[in-house]
Order: sequence, then C-alpha cells, then structure tokens
Amino acid sequence: MIGSTLGGARARRSALLAVGLLTCFIAPAASAADCPGHPNALGTSRTLVVDPREHRLIGTMQYRETLPLADHEVVLTFDDGPLPRNSNKILEILGDQCVKATFFTIGNMARSSPEGVRKLRDAGHTIGTHTQNHPLNMKRMPLERAKQEVDDGIASVRATLGDDADAALAPFFRIPGLSRADGVEEYLGTLGIQVWSADFLADDWRHISSSRVYDLAINRLEAKGKGILLLHDIQARTVAALPRILETLKARGYRIVHVVPASPERPATPTEPQQWLLHPGPEAIAQWPEVPNFLFADVGRLPAPALPDFDHANEAPMLREASLLRPSWPEPAEPAPESATVTLAAPSGSLFEIQGNLDVALRSAAFASHHAQKVASSTRETGPKRLSRRESRRLASGREMHHARAAGRHAHRAEAAVSSQGTPPAATARRGPLKRLVQIKKKHA
Ligand SMILES: [Zn+2]
Repeated sequence: MIGSTLGGARARRSALLAVGLLTCFIAPAASAADCPGHPNALGTSRTLVVDPREHRLIGTMQYRETLPLADHEVVLTFDDGPLPRNSNKILEILGDQCVKATFFTIGNMARSSPEGVRKLRDAGHTIGTHTQNHPLNMKRMPLERAKQEVDDGIASVRATLGDDADAALAPFFRIPGLSRADGVEEYLGTLGIQVWSADFLADDWRHISSSRVYDLAINRLEAKGKGILLLHDIQARTVAALPRILETLKARGYRIVHVVPASPERPATPTEPQQWLLHPGPEAIAQWPEVPNFLFADVGRLPAPALPDFDHANEAPMLREASLLRPSWPEPAEPAPESATVTLAAPSGSLFEIQGNLDVALRSAAFASHHAQKVASSTRETGPKRLSRRESRRLASGREMHHARAAGRHAHRAEAAVSSQGTPPAATARRGPLKRLVQIKKKHA
C-alpha cells in the first residue's frame, strides 16, 4: 500500500516534471495579457516555490546546489538596497517588463528608506535580507557578532513591513561579499533561512561601464545557460544596463523565474534532487580543456580560500574582502611577480570566473582586468617579449630587465584574454595600501 502510494506519488511527480519541462520549452515567456500596456514585455514565466529547510545553500559560485531551473531560466537578484535614487528606477524597469526578482535588502538601508522596502512588497517582488550593516568580513568576525548582523538586518526590514512582515519577508539571505562561513550558514539554517550565493555576477559594483555590466551578465549567463544573476539595485550602471539585459534575455529566449518561499498554504514546487545541481554543458567543458578538475567536482561547497592552485591563500583578509568592493586595484607600480600569475586558456576566462572559486573570480574581476590591460598597453610601447638589443643592454641591470620580461609575458596573456570574451583570467595577488582599502570599505553601501 505504502509502496503503491509512493509509486503513485513518484509517477505524479514525474508527470508534473514532464509537463513542467514541456511548458518550459514551448511556452512563450509572457503574453501581452500578462503585462498590460507592455506587449513586448519579457514577463515572468513561472513562480518557483522553494523550501529553505530542504535546500539550505544555493548558488554554484559557492555551493553544490543551485535553484532547480530549466535551461534558459534566469532568476534575477538585487543586493544592497533600497537606495531610492536607483532602486526606484530598477523597480520601474522591472515593472515595465513585468519581471519579478528577489531583493536582498540591508537593514540600515531599509531603516533609511522604509518606503523602498514597501515598494518591493507592493510590486510583488521577493524580499530577503543581507545583514544590518553589510560587513564584509563575516567569515572572520566572532560568530556572535555575525549573528547580530543577521538578526538586526531581519529586524530592520521587518520593521518596515509592519504586520505584513511574516508574509512579505522571505527566509532568504545573502552573505555580504559572499564571505561565507560555516558558523553563519549553520546559524541561518537553525533559523530556517536559505543562504543564496549566485551562479554568476556582472561586476556591477566595480567602476566599469554599463555596457561592460551588460556584456558580463549576458556572457556569463550564456556560459551557464541558466542560473541566479547577482546585481545591485543601488548602482546607476545597473540601472543603465538592465533594460538592455532584459531585452536580450527576451530576444534569446530566456525566461524569468520568480522564487518564493514555501509556506503551509503554498507547498514547494515538486522537484527531483538532481534538478538542484547545475551541470555545465559538454560544450562548456570542451571549450576549456585546461579547466581544473575541482571546478566540476561534486563537492559540498567550494570555499573561497581553499584552492591551492592560487597563490593568495595567505593574503591579508582585508585585501581579499576589499577586492569585492574595489572598483579597480591601485595602479600597480610594477608588474606583479610572474609566480603570482595564474594562466588559463583564454576563451575560458568568463566560464572560470563563474564556475570556480569566488575569490579568484572577484579578484580577477577587481584587479586582473585593469592590471593586465595596463601592463599590456605599457608593454606595447616597449614591445612585448622582443626588446631591441640596445634596450636589452639598457635594461640588463637586474630588476628592470626582470620586470620588462614579466611585463611582456603579462601583456601576451592579457591581450589573448582581452581579445576573447570575458574578463582576463589572470589573477594576481597584490597588496594595496591598507589605509585606502579601509576607506573604500567604509564607503561601500
Ligand atoms: Zn552586498
């Protein structure tokens, strides 16, 4: 009896799954009727109900599992708001496209702009939290302090929602700077809160152009085919990039999925365990023969500092954190030592960044692009690799020669990387002035 009931349930679930998959392939993203007044809207193709207690950690940038999305399904997330100046524009853009997203709000931002949180609720978006003060060192701070950040952030956002807080605040949380820590994750687990990492970033916190944000968002999505995109609703460049991102998603057949938490009245969408795993397509692997095994290893999570392949594990914690914030590292006074450089196949840079280690991805984004291009251009003047004899003699005095050669090698790689899509993959450990980084940290919202 039990067996047949289970069998029946399984059959029903499979049928549901099949219907779901079929729908995904044949249904247009949204009809005009779904978005009155906006006949060409991207729309929201479906709502995914998840049970945070069943899947506590999601986002392949750091965890084994991610949301159970079909190919070409995208979940949009926006962090660090609300900041009315830009967040309101983001809301308008999403509203015009009838797109629902998830917002990870900061407690003190919510206290400054309570109306901003209520606007999210009124527009039907999902609201999660992102601590009270956006500390970027959660993996090192005393657990009690980290818990306080979590609790205060939730309390602040709840306060803006009043009686609606239970219904309007989702048990979803994103750790600032994705600075994951076992203790923090465990604590969130005890609260029944799901920790969201991401599947890819668009580097929109860096000082890059909005068209670069667009390129990174689309290229990284195309590399994975589906997933959770992390953006920031407080950034003007994100406001500028978002309309084009949404247009392109529609043009290329991507569909927006709105994620909401399960509740007694709203059971979780039936899924199979393997749907929570994101498998890179065979073509993605083929493009990148040099991809290290660990990138696709079936491990519980990929903690940021654990990769021995990259020579930055001993770097000052502050510098690693700052790489999340720093739009571009301080100008290197001289090329970094060769030994600190990681060389990867050029076409795979963007794939690597999103699939692999977060630190590397963010550090690459924050530093390598700027550095590599800088070195590339400076080396173009002296001639990459090939120095004239006269120059060689002139430079032959020790350090100068060493650095010129290093610069040549850097330039070669940088140009190869820059000529392909994505951010140059070279990740170079480098220390900047600590004082400046502290200031940057303070400035970050
Ligand atoms: Zn943040």
